[in-house]
Amino acid sequence: MDKQLLIIGGGVSGTAAAHLGRLSGWKINIVTDADCRTLPAADLIVVSPGVHPLKSHLYQTAVRENRPMIGELAFGSAALPKNVRQLAVTGTNGKTTTTELTTHLLNFLGINALSAGNIGYPVSEVAATIMEKQAQGEGCAPEVVVIEVSNFQLELADGFAPEAAVLLNLKSDHEDRYRGGFAEYCQVKKQIFTQVRPENRIYGLTFADFPHRVTFSNGKLMADGVELLPEIEQTALAALHNRENLAAATELVLRLLPAEELKKRDFAAAVSAFHCGRHRIEAVRTWRGINFVNDSKATNPAAVTAAVHSLSDGQGKIVLLLGGCDKDMDFRELAELAPFLRCAVLFGEARTRIRRHLPDELPIHDAEMNFNAAFTFAVSAAEVGDTVLLSPACASFDMFKGYADRGNRFCELVSQLPE
Ligand code: ADP
Repeated sequence: MDKQLLIIGGGVSGTAAAHLGRLSGWKINIVTDADCRTLPAADLIVVSPGVHPLKSHLYQTAVRENRPMIGELAFGSAALPKNVRQLAVTGTNGKTTTTELTTHLLNFLGINALSAGNIGYPVSEVAATIMEKQAQGEGCAPEVVVIEVSNFQLELADGFAPEAAVLLNLKSDHEDRYRGGFAEYCQVKKQIFTQVRPENRIYGLTFADFPHRVTFSNGKLMADGVELLPEIEQTALAALHNRENLAAATELVLRLLPAEELKKRDFAAAVSAFHCGRHRIEAVRTWRGINFVNDSKATNPAAVTAAVHSLSDGQGKIVLLLGGCDKDMDFRELAELAPFLRCAVLFGEARTRIRRHLPDELPIHDAEMNFNAAFTFAVSAAEVGDTVLLSPACASFDMFKGYADRGNRFCELVSQLPE
C-alpha cells in the first residue's frame, strides 16, 4: 500500500510538496485548519511555512501526539539531486536581494544557478520539476540552487544541509510567532547553520565578532586580499545595507570559485549589471522638486532605518509614510530617525503603537485606515528637495493584498499627481 503523506497548509508551498510527494510515490492528503478538526493518520506530515505554530490546532495536535513532521523546505531539499549544490540565505532583511544577487553573480560568471525557496519558488517545486524533466530524458538541472530561507521555514528544518549559508542580520520582526519573542526568533534563525560546516557559516558584516573574507576599504571590495571591485559607489549596491548583501553574496560565490578566478571572469562587470527588485527603495518620480520613493518591502523598523539612512543626503528631509499590520515588533529604533524627518504620516492597525515610540517633537499626522488620505497629507507636508518615502515598517495585510499591492497603490497615486 502507498505510504500516506499528510500536508498541513494548501498554499504555494503545500501544493509544491504535494506535487513532489506524488512524483515520489506518496498518497497525498492536504488539510488546513479551516477544513479539518482532527488530524488524519499519516506516515509523514509536511508542514507549510504559513502554518502558525501558536495558532494552528492541527500543528499543535501533531506536536502533542509526537507525529513524524518535516517542514516543506527540508522535504524538498532532500529530494534535490546530490550533484545540485545548495546555498542558503536568511536574516531579517536583505534575503531576497542577496539571493537574487548570488544567483545573478553565479550566472554572469558562468555557473548555472537559480533562486528558490521563500522567494516564491518552493524547493519542493524545483525538485519536482527536475524529476519530471529527468523522466522525460531532459537532464538540465541547475548546478546551484540559491535558497532564500525564512524563519518560518527554519522551524522544522531538521535535515536541511546546504553546502554554505548566510545569516545576514538579526532585528526585530515576527515576534508574534514565538512565545519566547525576539530571543526565540534569533534562535530559530541560527538553525540555518545546524548542518553547515563551520568554515561555510557566513555572517553579515554587522556581526563584527565573526571573520569576514569580504571587506570594503576606500570604496573597493576586497575578497581574500584580492581587489574585485574598484568603486562600489558606481553600482546600485552602494548603500550600507546593500554592501552587507553584496559582501554576503560574494562570500557565497567564494565557496564555489576562488577570488582570482572571480577577477578573471569580470566580477566587477557582474556587480554593475545588477539592479535591486521593485518596492525596495525604488525611485518613482520627482514632482515639483519632491522625490517619491517606494520602499513597500520594508516590513520592519530596521529596513526603514536602512532606507532613511540611504536617502538622507543632508539636503531635503523625509516625509515618512508608516504603518500596517502589527507583528509585535519593537518600534523603538524608529525614534532615532526623527532628525531626518519632516514628519511622519501614520496609517493602518499598528499606527497607535508606532506613535508611542516616536518623539513628541516630531510632527505626526494620523490618517487612520485611509492610505489615500495619508498620501495626500504627505504630499502637502513635503517641501521642495524633500522625499516622500513609503517605508512602512509593517506588513500590509490589514489594508492590502501584499507589499506589492501597497507599493503599486503608492506608485499609482504618484502617477496621478497633476502636471
Ligand atoms: P527580505 O527578503 O529579507 O525581506 P529584501 O531584499 O526583499 O529582504 O529587502 C526588504 C527590505 O529591507 C527593503 O526595504 C530593503 O531596502 C531592506 N533591506 C535590504 N537589505 C537590507 C539589509 N541588509 N539591512 C537592512 N535592510 C535591508
